[in-house]
Amino acid sequence: MAAPPRPRFYDLTTADGTPYHRIARMPEAGLVTSTVVQTCVRYAEAERCRFCAIQEALGVVPDGTLPVKRPDQLAEAVHAAVRLDGVRQVSLTTGTGAGPDRGARYLARCVRAIRAAIGPAVPVQVTCEPPADLAALGLLRAAGTTAIGLNVESLDDRLRRRWLPGKARVPLAQYEAAWEHGVRVFGRDHVSTCLLIGLGERPEDLIEGARRLVARGIHPFVVPLRPTPGTIAYRDGLTGPPPERVALITRAVDALLAAHGLAGGAGMPRRAAAVG
Ligand code: SF4
Repeated sequence: MAAPPRPRFYDLTTADGTPYHRIARMPEAGLVTSTVVQTCVRYAEAERCRFCAIQEALGVVPDGTLPVKRPDQLAEAVHAAVRLDGVRQVSLTTGTGAGPDRGARYLARCVRAIRAAIGPAVPVQVTCEPPADLAALGLLRAAGTTAIGLNVESLDDRLRRRWLPGKARVPLAQYEAAWEHGVRVFGRDHVSTCLLIGLGERPEDLIEGARRLVARGIHPFVVPLRPTPGTIAYRDGLTGPPPERVALITRAVDALLAAHGLAGGAGMPRRAAAVG
């Protein structure tokens, strides 16, 4: 199979001389993505989510991704991607910040700048940790965000402590509050969360958790854990879950989504982003 053509916007630079490919990427046709802050307060070895490699991309090559993408830089790069490469979906994520908004307010500034550049037509989805300060969700919506991912990874506190020790200190109750507020702000089927397969969960527990989410208009993405280079899970030699487990859970959750009419609202990704 021929490699997809290099996106045309990669070869342009911002007014300050920064190549657009250091600001945003196009992983598939029609989709432009960016990790607006490429660092995370939870990245110490004992804290880090064991499947995350967010900071490993920094400093590998001199013209690699920027640690922080400014709103004006994002606006320029995304506008070019829409104009030159037919982008129909924008997806932004961030490493977790230290403040109570956990990075959501900076995401809102980025979305506002992008919206001003590209207009209302192209949906913009963001992913972040649930802000302790729920007002940040309203700011994101007011800035022009179409949909939001608040990724819990697991609904089992025992597995959360093992796999995401830093993030597990955010109580599940805080996810519940953010999902609920998110549905009020963004609408049904415009709030998603990622549930990982392969953390040692019982399939029936994961499916029951997904059922409760779907009933409230929250869209769960079930994603098999596939440890990638740079992650602790990869270094430990862990492999992904067996295909039959993935198939069983995916079929069950797809049936739940269909039964509740959750087909993925405007701006919803086809799969969950990896961080946030
Ligand atoms: S998944 Fe999110 S919270 Fe966990 S280490 Fe990566 S960026 Fe930080």
